[in-house]
Formats: sequence, structure tokens, C-alpha cells
Amino acid sequence: MTTEQSAATLNAWAVAQRQFDLAAEKLGLDPGMRKVLREPRRELTVHFPVHMDDGTVQVFTGYRVQHNLGRGPAKGGIRYHQDVTLDEVKALAMWMTWKCAVVGIPYGGGKGGVIVDPKKLSMKELEGLSRRYFTEISVLIGPERDIPAPDVNTTPQIMSWFMDTYSMHVGYTVPGVVTGKPISLGGSEGRNEATARGCVYTIVDAAPLVGIDLKKATVAVQGYGNAGAIAAHLMAAEGSTVVAVSDSMGGIHNPAGLDPDKVLSWKKEHGTVVGYPGATEISNEDLLEVQCDILIPAALENQITARNAGRIKAKLIAEAANGPTTPEADEILYNNGVFLIPDILCNAGGVTVSYFEWVQDLNRDHWSEAVVNAKLKEIMDRAFGETVAVSQREKVNMRTAAYLLAVKRVSDTTALRGIYP
Ligand code: NAD
Repeated sequence: MTTEQSAATLNAWAVAQRQFDLAAEKLGLDPGMRKVLREPRRELTVHFPVHMDDGTVQVFTGYRVQHNLGRGPAKGGIRYHQDVTLDEVKALAMWMTWKCAVVGIPYGGGKGGVIVDPKKLSMKELEGLSRRYFTEISVLIGPERDIPAPDVNTTPQIMSWFMDTYSMHVGYTVPGVVTGKPISLGGSEGRNEATARGCVYTIVDAAPLVGIDLKKATVAVQGYGNAGAIAAHLMAAEGSTVVAVSDSMGGIHNPAGLDPDKVLSWKKEHGTVVGYPGATEISNEDLLEVQCDILIPAALENQITARNAGRIKAKLIAEAANGPTTPEADEILYNNGVFLIPDILCNAGGVTVSYFEWVQDLNRDHWSEAVVNAKLKEIMDRAFGETVAVSQREKVNMRTAAYLLAVKRVSDTTALRGIYP
């Protein structure tokens, strides 16, 4: 692979468009429709000042992208990370469109991001940045227009500041403008665990198809945040053995098993999983290749590429992260018989419970965790079953099958609505 090619294939937006093109080709989508769905509807870039604790003013850059609004308001998280780019946010917004369509919830796709390493900010600076960023993007935001949520490095506290900022501007409390809030501010039971819980529901559905007995299975998890750490906990609750986990500082490995809850306590105390007693240190690259039955990428994009896909030992990959696998790697994994549950299906539990949160907020209602989890399970099981059926019928991998379902649903709606004016 030339440097130029590898740079293009590792650009998340190029990856997202190629995944879409594959589905559009297979669906025989009308050329006009292809042009419409291949691009985001709106891209907003903002540069905004924040007062820093040392008395200086720093200017940050952020984005909010709305990919498609055909099926409802835009929905998608906001990421704080030093490597955020407009192309990454565009890809994440497009993936949200397909994700909402796969699970059949009435949203379009959106995503936001700020170029910042939030670990370098004080709480006061983080609050100032969050409130000003939300103010800047508020031209697009609203409970009927675009409803943000958490993503990498954004927390229920940050969602509270977003909600309060919007509410201050309009003069009354609007809980439905953002999801992933603390329960006391209109958050939903089960939202914090929802991405991981939905991911584990799909693993439970997939295991018999792959011949995996979850009670005897070993699991590796890349990324130990909201999605990854809770997925590790829930896999242990299924009786599986978690043998390796990692975060941005590196990974740890113990073939005899790690206790996910103790690892989380260690991470909370030390800021990383690295150094956890009784485990061998490994790199993030090594983690992907450890001996295990189930691999859960739960960090960032482009982790499984043509370079390492052939060395992956897992029989089942569950993409808790968005975009962890490149199209070249997809092909290698499929040819090697690895069963992959694609991101737009696997991690859709997060947006599904965000949808529940929004419905509860609009109705001033509050559901029990049992109700939330039961509704989530019904939606995830149905979406998984529909995707497997398409995959078997069309003889395509699970990602293409999920895309065929999603792109068809979005293009049907877009065709019905027609082109304005
Ligand atoms: P988070 O900030 O809670 O956790 C991210 C974790 O990844 C942290 O442990 C961090 O140290 C680790 N990490 C960062 N860079 C890494 C690297 N290069 N290698 C290994 N680990 C690294 O974020 P999250 O909300 O858990 O999001 C993780 C992934 O899940 C993202 O792809 C996100 O888009 C996706 N996702 C999240 C949600 C949600 O509801 N939070 C929903 C759907 C998808």
C-alpha cells in the first residue's frame, strides 16, 4: 500500500463514504439519491474563546455536522479529543444516520466535536469551554432539531452544562435538548450502561451462530471508558473471562482472567489500567491480536486495518466503537471466517436509550430500568435478526447487510419526502 493510499483509507470520512458506496451499488440506488446521501446536509465550524485559569484567553475549534434529517431530528454525540477533525465528525454523523435507521428510531444523524485534550483543562475551564461551544452551535440545536449526547471524553456533567446553557438562553428548562444527562436532570435509567448493554445483547445473539459458549469464552476489550469498561463488566456477568483490556496509555493481559470491576477501580485511582497488579503489560496493537474468542474494540476509529486484520485470533468481533475497522480489514476478516457485529448495529444501544430519554423528557415521564432494558433488548434483538437475515439472503458480511437495511430505509424516506422546493 502506498503512503497516499493508506492515508486515504485511514481517513474516517473516506471510509464512511466507501462503506456507503458499497451498499448503494448493491442496492442499485438511483444516482441522484446517491449524491444526496453521500454528503452531509450541514457542516458548522466554530472558533470560540475561553478564559483560562492563568488569565489568558485561548481560542478553540469545534464542529457540529448534520448528515441527514429525513427520518427525524439529528442525533449524535459530542467528542472532546485533541485529534478531532471535520472529516472525522462528518464520518461519525453519517454513521449515526445509518445507526438510527438500523434500529428503527425516528432520528437523522449528527455529530459534534471540539479539538481539545480535556484532561489538560481544570473543571472551570472545561465548563467555560462546554458552555461557549454549545452556545456557538445552538443555531442548529434544539429538542426538535438536533439533540446531542455523550461520546469520547464527554460526561453526564458536560451534558448538564449543555442543557443548562440552552435553557438559560430560552428562559425555561428544556431537558429534551440533550441526552446522557444525570437522572436527576431528566436522564434515563440505564443510559450510562446502554451502549455496552446493547453491544452485549448482540454478542449473546451472535454467540450461537459462531459456536461460542459464553460461559467458556475469553474476551479482549480495547478502550476502557463508558463503552469498554461496562462491556467488560457485562461480559463477566455472562460468565466469560476477560483476558485483556487497554486504554490510551496501554494494555494489560492475563490469560487466567482479569476482574473488570477491580481494573476499573484501579483506573479510577491511577488514571489508567496500566500497572494493574498480576497482569502483563501489552500495547494497544498487541491487545487486538491476543488469543481470545471475542474482541470488543471500544476506543477509536481505524484500529483494525489491512495490516493487522490477518493476525486477529478472535472468532467474533463486536464493534462497541465507531469505525474501528477499515473496509480492507473487513474483507480479510470475512474471508477468514470472523463474524463481525458492525458498529452501526453493535453500539446502537446508546442512541436507542438516548431516544428513550428524549421521549421521557418530552412526556415528563420516567421509566424504570427494567422497562428501559426490556425495550432496549427487544430493539437490539430485532435489528440483529433483521441484519443476519439480509446477510444470509444477500450473501454479504454483517456490515454490508446492516448498510443495506439502513440505506434502504433512509433512501425510501428521502424519496417519499422529495426534493424541496
Ligand atoms: P470514553 O471517553 O468513555 O472512553 C474512551 C476510552 O478509550 C478511554 O478508556 C480511553 O483511554 C481509551 N482510548 C483513547 N484512545 C485510545 C487508543 N488510541 N487506544 C486504546 N484506547 C484508547 O468514550 P466512550 O463513550 O466509551 O466511547 C468509546 C467508543 O464508543 C467511541 O468510538 C465512541 O464513538 C463509541 N460510542 C460511544 C457511545 C456512548 O454512548 N458513549 C455510543 C456509541 C458509540
